[in-house]
Amino acid sequence: MNKTNPAIIWFRQDLRVNDNQAFNAAVESGMPILPVYVLDNENAGEWALGIASRCWLIQSLTALNKSLEGHLRFFKGPADQIIPKLANEVNASGVYWGRCYEPWRIHRDQYIKTTLHQNNIQAKSFNNSLLFEPNRILKPDGTPYKVFTPFFRNGCLQATQQTDLTVKTASVRVFDQSPVGEDINELDFSLDSNLQAAVQNNWQPGELGALNQFNRFLDHGIQGYKEGRNFPGTDHVSRLSPHLHFGEISIRQVWHSIKNETEADREDIEHFLSELCWREFSYNLLYHRPEMPRKNLQEKFDKFPWRDNKKDFNKWRLGETGYPIVDAGMRELRQTGYMHNRVRMIVGSFLVKNMLLHWHHGKDWFWDSLFDADLANNSASWQWIAGCGADSMPYFRIFNPITQGRKFDPQGVYIRRHIPELAKIPAEHIHMPWVAGTKINYPTPILDLASTRKRALKALGSTRN
Ligand SMILES: Cc1cc2nc3c(=O)[nH]c(=O)nc-3n(C[C@H](O)[C@H](O)[C@H](O)COP(=O)(O)OP(=O)(O)OC[C@H]3O[C@@H](n4cnc5c(N)ncnc54)[C@H](O)[C@@H]3O)c2cc1C
Repeated sequence: MNKTNPAIIWFRQDLRVNDNQAFNAAVESGMPILPVYVLDNENAGEWALGIASRCWLIQSLTALNKSLEGHLRFFKGPADQIIPKLANEVNASGVYWGRCYEPWRIHRDQYIKTTLHQNNIQAKSFNNSLLFEPNRILKPDGTPYKVFTPFFRNGCLQATQQTDLTVKTASVRVFDQSPVGEDINELDFSLDSNLQAAVQNNWQPGELGALNQFNRFLDHGIQGYKEGRNFPGTDHVSRLSPHLHFGEISIRQVWHSIKNETEADREDIEHFLSELCWREFSYNLLYHRPEMPRKNLQEKFDKFPWRDNKKDFNKWRLGETGYPIVDAGMRELRQTGYMHNRVRMIVGSFLVKNMLLHWHHGKDWFWDSLFDADLANNSASWQWIAGCGADSMPYFRIFNPITQGRKFDPQGVYIRRHIPELAKIPAEHIHMPWVAGTKINYPTPILDLASTRKRALKALGSTRN
């Protein structure tokens, strides 16, 4: 091996240069760096990136390429063929990457590692996405946690005290000059112009954007987070989810900075840390139950009598159900590629309980529409809402969108923001505009809450033996 054998750094869901362990190791190997990204829809199969994710990704890659002085090289196709072939062609000294935990990626990456080793090329992978590897936090008997609170308190909080979570950063000295791959503008990402505009108008993808967003949250959002996070009309959530999903900011950095924040109340800080651990919990579930994106974690739900009704689904998807908080959420999703967590729970409950439509429909729509679409978080959260997941909300708890709206958006600030047709409705009628007596261009409710609630509870009976 001589000094020209490049170290390939394969970027995946760690689109940053700071506190990126794979990147650091490649730089520290002393070899010239060859940074690459592979858009692999072939191996992803049904979990190929949704439209919204692709619109985010291209912006994020453009930002990363800029940080790498234009040296990031792009490929499209099956990574299990592209990476070993590339490593052979450029005579790589090694390939370095951050681990991902989607079942299809675990399977593919094991194959790539074996192939590289067989060709005498080093393959080194690192934890770049989580606080803890999914097989690290286990119950004392060695089995995975099924309930969140002990996972958080006995698992995560204990483990953070015994783990080095310090942020480490390296800077590149030399880039490899191999003429491989393509220019980013030549890859076909099949983008959608509305979603591209939604990214540009509302977000700043990439490492700098993630850091700016995090600093804004530290300055204005964390104080009062515990209560404020429930009110979608206020600015009390971090909006870090797409940045964390694509690894534009290191989870270790977020954890550290929040933990050491001195201006905010400890209750707010601890609550935020617990939300970060919900993300860890979802990844643990996916790792130990790889069937989670498709199968009910509680088998008794396999007999559940879901309805099949495209018309209702379309009304839900378009935000035309006639229930303002539900419609505002679905329109926020279409307008911004994001939806506030409280509203995700309300629209989810409406779909699976009032409409009695399978949680898969909601999960698939979110997968395509969210900038933070994440296989672990999305599947675990939909199973949670549908009551068929691990430590999930009981199926018999059915959110009433009127009550939820009155409680969490009392003046209708959030509703008016996303449904301009309701802008002039007084606060007392904003959650039931049909009683206002004003002529408005807004649908009347498509279903009756009381009878659909009864229907859902009756359907629940089918899960009992
Ligand atoms: C039906 C449904 C589907 C969801 N799909 C996704 C998804 O595809 N991708 C996704 O990242 N989150 C998903 N969530 C979880 C949650 O709604 C989002 O993570 C959160 O709204 C993101 O906004 P934020 O960054 O402002 O959150 P904050 O409140 O600021 O939380 C900080 C971070 O903690 C993590 N987090 C917060 N809540 C949760 C949670 N309940 N589960 C897992 N991680 C959490 C996220 O990484 C988030 O960025 C879903 C929730 C529901 C109810």
